[in-house]
Amino acid sequence: MTRSTRTRAAVTASVVAATTTALTLSAPLASAHDHGRGRGHFTAGAPGVGDRYYPLAGNGGYDVRHYDITGTYDPATDVWSATTVISARATANLYRFDLDFDGMTISSLAVNGKPAAWSRVGAELVVVPKHKVKAGSAITIRATYTGVPKEFLLPLGDTTLRTGFMATDDGATVAGQPDVAAGWFPVNDHPRDKAAYDFHVTVPRGLGVVANGFLVGQHTQGSATRFDWHAPEPMASYLATIDIGQWDVRQSTTLSGLPVYDAVDPDLLTDPTLGPSINASLARQGEIVGVLSSAFGKYPFATVGAIVDDQDDLGFALETQTRPVYSKYFWPDGGDSVIAHELAHQWYGDYVALEQWQDIWLNEGWATYAEWIWGEHEGFFTPQDAFDFYYAEIPDDDAFWDFVVGEPPHDDLFGNPVYIRGGMTLQALRNRVGDDAFWQIARQWVQEQGGGTGTTAQFIALAERVSGQQLDDLFDAWLFTGSKPAATSPLARSAVAPKDIAAVRTWDEQFTKRLSVGRY
Ligand SMILES: [Zn+2]
Repeated sequence: MTRSTRTRAAVTASVVAATTTALTLSAPLASAHDHGRGRGHFTAGAPGVGDRYYPLAGNGGYDVRHYDITGTYDPATDVWSATTVISARATANLYRFDLDFDGMTISSLAVNGKPAAWSRVGAELVVVPKHKVKAGSAITIRATYTGVPKEFLLPLGDTTLRTGFMATDDGATVAGQPDVAAGWFPVNDHPRDKAAYDFHVTVPRGLGVVANGFLVGQHTQGSATRFDWHAPEPMASYLATIDIGQWDVRQSTTLSGLPVYDAVDPDLLTDPTLGPSINASLARQGEIVGVLSSAFGKYPFATVGAIVDDQDDLGFALETQTRPVYSKYFWPDGGDSVIAHELAHQWYGDYVALEQWQDIWLNEGWATYAEWIWGEHEGFFTPQDAFDFYYAEIPDDDAFWDFVVGEPPHDDLFGNPVYIRGGMTLQALRNRVGDDAFWQIARQWVQEQGGGTGTTAQFIALAERVSGQQLDDLFDAWLFTGSKPAATSPLARSAVAPKDIAAVRTWDEQFTKRLSVGRY
């Protein structure tokens, strides 16, 4: 995210000198220069986790176990007033540490029950607890704040996409990548620090709230209703969502016994084209989970579902854990494929999250590949057809081949090749190692990295371990070289059958349309 990178880069040099919007100090803050150097044997937690693309995303010195977010949203003013309690454990001796928090006005902040000193420097919230924190000990941070949550603009080549905590005509939608959580709660905002979440969201009576995990409570008192959502499975911060508005809620159970919770804006259901096609796609979620489970192993979470809002400028879908958020623009055509994509992210993106944003192809390549798997299940075309189609269709000198998928441009992290060339990389791997090894790699990746994160280097190492082959040449050509890889796939056919070309072309037209709307 260019905007956020720029803002954050500009502030690193002047942690103290900045004219902070709020400064409540009982002790002077140390300068940026002693980040990591420390005072005695106590140090300042790093202002970032060390992500090359987003140097100030996340923070060092602690590991969050749980976020408890209790807030009230007023759709009339878009004001979100909340208290977030963060339960963390120190991983270093700390006299100071950062949280990511971008915007909003803090009224109080306490660490381990004692008021703490703090300052705001760009998107960094610098916290100085009254008592130093020893490595291994518990840190409980309680922050109370209010304001209109900040929105974010995700750069997409020459355009941008509205993301974050977005006000809608009847409430709000919360979704975005890579570091939007900091817009509505103080957070260690990087996928490396997963945590469990509880949301207690109060809205005007008549409105609903949908979030990740399970609805465990709903209480109406006077003119307001509080919804309690419990998401116990460790989750990357950008995947946290609360979606406020009028919802048509459907609860069911898949054939395999997985609880389904879907929420659709009733306005969409009155549309004679959109309503039935959205409903038809959502009705297939159990079948899609089944197909993907056969490929990738057991679905990694205890619930599933969808959130589809009637929001005119929501141009994307996001794999918000257990309950993806979908743009209405992905219907009436191709919606099943988008659901296959977001559900595939539950394995590749959510359960196995990114260790660094540079490796985004691990998310989008696999999710695109899942759409091709679904295409095969539907009898349309196979992943090999898709591979052959793009290999033949995209001219050798097209900019598509210049894009280095393993190191995408900062301002085009979600460029088209991350999806298509990412998916083709997996098919090239499959052709090299054979079906048995390929599916073993797919499943073992989830088993070994599940619950945490993974890197491209780890993925390559696993592929080599499982296949017993040296694969540097293949991954160098497909991920790290800005030119068209040679056609070395031993199983590639000389030509795609005309009917299959037509089916891939249809998918490609829908894919291109989706990317013209936004991303997913
Ligand atoms: Zn995706």
